[in-house]
Amino acid sequence: KAKSSGRNRYVEFIDAMTMQQNRRLQIASSIKQALDNNEFYLLFQPKVAPTKGVVGVEALIRWNSQQLGIISPAEFIPIAEQTGRINDITRWVIKHGFKKLHHLQKSQNNKLKVSFNLSTFDIFKPEFLKYLKEQLAENQLEPQYIEFEITESSYIENFSVARNFINSMQEVGCSIALDDFGTGYSSLSYLTQINAETIKIDQYFVRNLFKSEKDKKVADAIISLSLKLNMTICAEGVENQKQYEYLKAAGCHQIQGYYFSKPVAYEQLNDNIKRIQNMPDIKVTKLSSVK
Ligand code: C2E
Ligand code: MG
Ligand code: MG
Ligand code: MG
Repeated sequence: KAKSSGRNRYVEFIDAMTMQQNRRLQIASSIKQALDNNEFYLLFQPKVAPTKGVVGVEALIRWNSQQLGIISPAEFIPIAEQTGRINDITRWVIKHGFKKLHHLQKSQNNKLKVSFNLSTFDIFKPEFLKYLKEQLAENQLEPQYIEFEITESSYIENFSVARNFINSMQEVGCSIALDDFGTGYSSLSYLTQINAETIKIDQYFVRNLFKSEKDKKVADAIISLSLKLNMTICAEGVENQKQYEYLKAAGCHQIQGYYFSKPVAYEQLNDNIKRIQNMPDIKVTKLSSVK
């Protein structure tokens, strides 16, 4: 293909922009109908404690759109946030996730903690807090097995509102994890000002552990600081044994990533947990304890 002239490149650029804009609009305008049509579903990704086995799972939303095919949450969640649809999606996630959790808590004697991702715009809505409490009661859930993952943008936007939300959920008995910590606008003072139980180190650092000596040092520092603050540390995006061994030795309490499991359907969860418990890497000392 001949090299594009300047003008053609400009036209290509505008076309690409228009296409991208069209897709955004299509996604934004399909969300409401997708909720009505049940096009969303949840997958669950295990979190593994090196000496306890699977201690929790993270609920992750998926969308199989009739018109657009499979769309990643990394694409549609930001669009939903920007177009004011996120709270409808989050309510769907909570409603369906809590229902599954109800069954999980009834059927398992070895209880798992289930984590849900929340957006900034969710926690700024006072009605949402009310909704969460209603859903907790309706599904008769034990709140100590529920965690909410939030990112730093939530507390940057409006610190006191975010802190009120977090305190309210903790009063009810749920716990809070700081997701994707160490990238974005994370400030170290949030670690002391936001009383989160868990910190999730961003995948970026795990990916770069053996690629960048500097990133490894920052990861080490985040881990040792979190240990000093008595937080539970979860490393996400762990894809191989080398990363797992390093992070385990560094003191991470929980490991999450493709090395152990991709996110799976609720129906596959039990078999998947059994498979992980039997992996030679996992030295399960006592099956019943859950951190
Ligand atoms: P996140 O909460 O940080 O979730 C981690 C993402 O990394 C997930 O992508 C997960 O599938 C992926 N992942 C896990 N292990 C590995 C690994 O070993 N390697 C690699 N390369 N990736 C791994 P996913 O499911 O596509 O979700 C992307 C983001 O979308 C999430 O990031 C979260 O911010 C958002 N999201 C997902 N579900 C929900 C939801 O129900 N509500 C909200 N508000 N956001 C959600
Ligand atoms: Mg998360
Ligand atoms: Mg994350
Ligand atoms: Mg993320």
